[in-house]
Order: sequence, then C-alpha cells, then structure tokens
Amino acid sequence: MKINISDAQIRGAHVQLEGLSKVYSGGTVGVDAIDLAVAPGEILALLGPSGCGKTTTLRMIAGLITPSAGEILIDGTSIVSLPVHRRNLGMLFQNYALFPHMSVLDNVAFGLSMRGVAKAEIAERSREALRLVQLEALADRLPKALSGGQQQRVALARAIVYRPRLLLLDEPLGALDKKLRESMQLELRQLCAQLGLTMVLVTHDQEEALTLADRIAVMRGGRIEQVGLGREVYEHPISAFVANFIGTSNLVDARIVSRDGDVTVLETDQGQSIHSTTRHGFALGDAVTVSIRPEHVTLAPSGASASGPNSLEGLVTQAVFKGQNLAIHLRVPGGADFVCTIPVAMTGSAVPAAGQIWRMTWPADRTIVVSRA
Ligand code: ADP
Ligand code: MG
Repeated sequence: MKINISDAQIRGAHVQLEGLSKVYSGGTVGVDAIDLAVAPGEILALLGPSGCGKTTTLRMIAGLITPSAGEILIDGTSIVSLPVHRRNLGMLFQNYALFPHMSVLDNVAFGLSMRGVAKAEIAERSREALRLVQLEALADRLPKALSGGQQQRVALARAIVYRPRLLLLDEPLGALDKKLRESMQLELRQLCAQLGLTMVLVTHDQEEALTLADRIAVMRGGRIEQVGLGREVYEHPISAFVANFIGTSNLVDARIVSRDGDVTVLETDQGQSIHSTTRHGFALGDAVTVSIRPEHVTLAPSGASASGPNSLEGLVTQAVFKGQNLAIHLRVPGGADFVCTIPVAMTGSAVPAAGQIWRMTWPADRTIVVSRA
C-alpha cells in the first residue's frame, strides 16, 4: 500500500523534561534543573541570550549531549539511555552540511539508504519529502546550484524524510536574509501543522520566536525564567529581563506605595507617581520595575494637560524614521530614557523633533509591574 507522509497521520511527540541538568567538565553549568512540557503538535521556542543553555537543552533531547541529571520523557517513556538514531527525531541546525557531490534527491535519500529501507520506498519517500518543501522540481540538481534558502529546504526535507514525530531546530534560519527567513518561518509552521509534528526551536531572535512558536520559554543562566503563549509573555512579562528581551520596553525602577482595588500606585526613584491596573504579585513597599511598551505611549506637545494618571515630560533626543513608525527617544529630567513609537500614518502636522519638550502619557492598564533585573 502506498503511504504518503501527509497521509500517515503522525501524531506529534509529547516531550517532558524533568529536572534536566548539564554540568560540563570544568564545572560550567550549561542547564540548571529545568522542567518543561511540550504538547503533541506544539511548537515551543527556547529563547534567550547567547550562553543561556538553549543549545545544551536541545542537544540533550537529541541525544548528542548526556545529561548530568534529570529525565527526558517522550510520551511518558524515558529516552535518556537511547542512542540518537533510536529517538526518532528530525534535526535542523544552522550549519547544515549537504553532500556537495550528491544530487538533492540523493542527499535526502542518504539517511534512508543507510537504514536499509527498500529502494523503491526510498525514492518515493524522498520525493514526497522534497514535495513538502516545494523542491521536487530541483531533485536532480547539485547543492551548489541552489540558493541558500533552497539548500536549507533540502536540509529540512532530509530531516523529515524519516517521518519523525519531533523536530528539533537550532537557529535554523540564522544564515538567511530577513525576507527569506520570514517566508521560511511561515512555511515551517505550515509544515508542522500538516505533519502533526511537535517542534522545539532554539533562537535568540524574539521576532522569530513570536512568529513561529505557540509557546515561548525564556531562558536565562541555564534556567527557564518564564514560559507561556507568545502574546502572554509579551504582554505579561514577569521580570525586567523578560520585558526587555521580548520586544522593547521602557523600564523605570519604582516602589509600591499604595493599593486600592485594582489600582496600584507606585513612586519612581525620582518621586514621580505611576498608576497600574495590571495584575502582579507584589506587596506594599516592594522595589519593582515598571515596564511600558513604546507603542503604548502617546505624545502631546509640552504643557498639554495630562489626560490620565501616567504622564511625564521629556526632552526629545532623537526622532528616527523606521518606515511604518517613527521612534521618538526622550530623556526625562533626572530619570530614564524613554522610547515611543508612533505610526507614521498617525502623525499630524506637529511631529516631535530633537531639542523639543513633549509630554508622554500611557494607560494604567498598559503599565506592567515586573521584578527588578
Ligand atoms: P546557548 O545555545 O543558549 O547560546 P549553550 O547551551 O551553547 O548556550 O551554552 C550554555 C553554557 O554552557 C555556556 O556558558 C557555554 O559556554 C557552556 N558550554 C556549552 N558547551 C560547552 C562545552 N562543550 N564545554 C564547556 N562548556 C560549554
Ligand atoms: Mg546555541
């Protein structure tokens, strides 16, 4: 019977990491007792700055690095003692190496022939994998006759030709230019849904994480700082670190001075008052950081009456045209630097310019209270 990959009804793997750690020889802690669950068919991004333990985590799941402690379960069964080739995973890394002297088709088929799959089936499965990445027409070419994006697609076809239930990707699109990266991101999402694959993606690019992933785990120093839906992590970061790593944030250190129902009143270190109506778990007197996204700040000429509780005047230091938006940088006397973005389509006749004083206001329900640092 003929089976296409797309007909095979592969159900994605359920991945669980429990207390997973890696201490490298020499004592460097790469990953520090992380717990994480990835649901079947889910795309999860491990996001964080260089050195925070993303690759180490992914390579432990792959079987390329042996954990120092902890468990890796797939569908409830430990795979820690299984060798790489028995874990049934596909892998895609930035430095994919294609065999230069083999055709595209042979590159994809190579792994199957090594595993002793019957010849007719190899050809059929390889063509099917190439069809899924839209490269069937180039099956006979050599890699050097392909663009970088096409080569990366061949590597992707090679990763899915085994019909894995889990796809692991480490900065897979890092070498591609922005346009190509964006179209590959959408294609990867589509492919994942089509094949019912679970995907764990490593990236240091917050935009890539937001575009590709269902949930994002933000890592820091070998630990997971926050995990949640992309939108949730963006709108409700728990720390200044997360707020600043995902998107841009204006961060102001403050102390909680009172609380009345939903309204938290804070006082900045410069004595300015800020109101927030967002949820948080802090108590009176706590030293916290207030985070305000640039797109939530409205600007009005200096001296305009403040329309809400959150208002600060600042000196415009720079106005940068960014295509769709203007980014206005302001300095608050004795305080922080702010950045606000205003859609170019919304700018009226008066546009902030360097050297002018403008008034910033922002809503209390967009004022996020996070832990310092
Ligand atoms: P990321 O992928 O987030 O950039 P890594 O997982 O590669 O981070 O590294 C996590 C930490 O482990 C870093 O401090 C790094 O220097 C260290 N590390 C990674 N690989 C090794 C290794 N083979 N030997 C020793 N330390 C390592
Ligand atoms: Mg890495």
